[in-house]
Formats: sequence, C-alpha cells, structure tokens
Amino acid sequence: MDRAVACPVHMCTFDGTIRDVANHIQEHSDESHRWEALRWDDRDEFCRTTHFEEGQRFEQLGQDAWDHGDYEGAIENLEDGTSHFQRAQEFADDPSTLTERCQDIRDRIADIEVAEQIRGCHRKRHTRRRRMLELCLRAPASCKRRLLSTSSSM
Ligand SMILES: [Zn+2]
Repeated sequence: MDRAVACPVHMCTFDGTIRDVANHIQEHSDESHRWEALRWDDRDEFCRTTHFEEGQRFEQLGQDAWDHGDYEGAIENLEDGTSHFQRAQEFADDPSTLTERCQDIRDRIADIEVAEQIRGCHRKRHTRRRRMLELCLRAPASCKRRLLSTSSSM
C-alpha cells in the first residue's frame, strides 16, 4: 500500500499518491504550484525522486524489521521498497542503478526466506522433541526406556 505523500507547497493541505500529487501540482497554475518554484525541474523529476525516497524508506523499514526478527514485516517492506524503486525507474534517464538496487533487494528477500525456512525447521524439530519428552515423563516406568531411546535418536 502506498502511503499518502503531502503536496510540497507550503500551506497546501493536499495529499495523495505520488501520481495524485504530481497531477495536482501540474493542474494548478498559481504562483506556488509551479515546478520552477519548487525544488524539482519537472513532473518526472518529482516522481522519480519521491518514489526513490519512499523506496529508501521502505528498504530501511524492512531492514529494521528483519533486525528485530520480524520476518513478515521485513518481506512486506522490502517488497514495497522494490516496487517504489521500479516506479522511480520509469522516470529515470539511466535506470541501470535502480535495476541493480532492485536486484539487490530481491536477493536479500530470498536470503530472508531461506533463513526463515531454516528457523522454521529447527522450531518444528524442537517442538516434536519436547512433546516426546513430556510423554516420556508421564509414561509408566516400563515404557520410559523405550520412549527415551526413541527421543534421543531424533
Ligand atoms: Zn498543493
């Protein structure tokens, strides 16, 4: 989901998607809603830099989430980041740096998925082993040896 961005014009309360804001500036002909008066050359530059900034923001959020062990949050934010970089690419004269950046994030997503799968496997094995030991504690003495030998071979 795209977060709404605010119109960069001072005192203007308009907000919307990056495209909405670009159109809004384009359609207004007052003094302050002109690209020359703002810090961008034109609509394309506004879209490119704003998508790029949003991409960086999501990339950082994804990294933070992963640092906190939040798998879902990491994947979600990194994917949002990639989609912003991809859209920034549409407005770029030289898209190659953004292509690399997107590839870099996709590699990171793949790494995270692998790490999460490994962790999931460990957890499952751990749970199974613990259940076995619990069973064992409740079992009559005659079964205990058999259960323990099964459990330790897991
Ligand atoms: Zn405005």
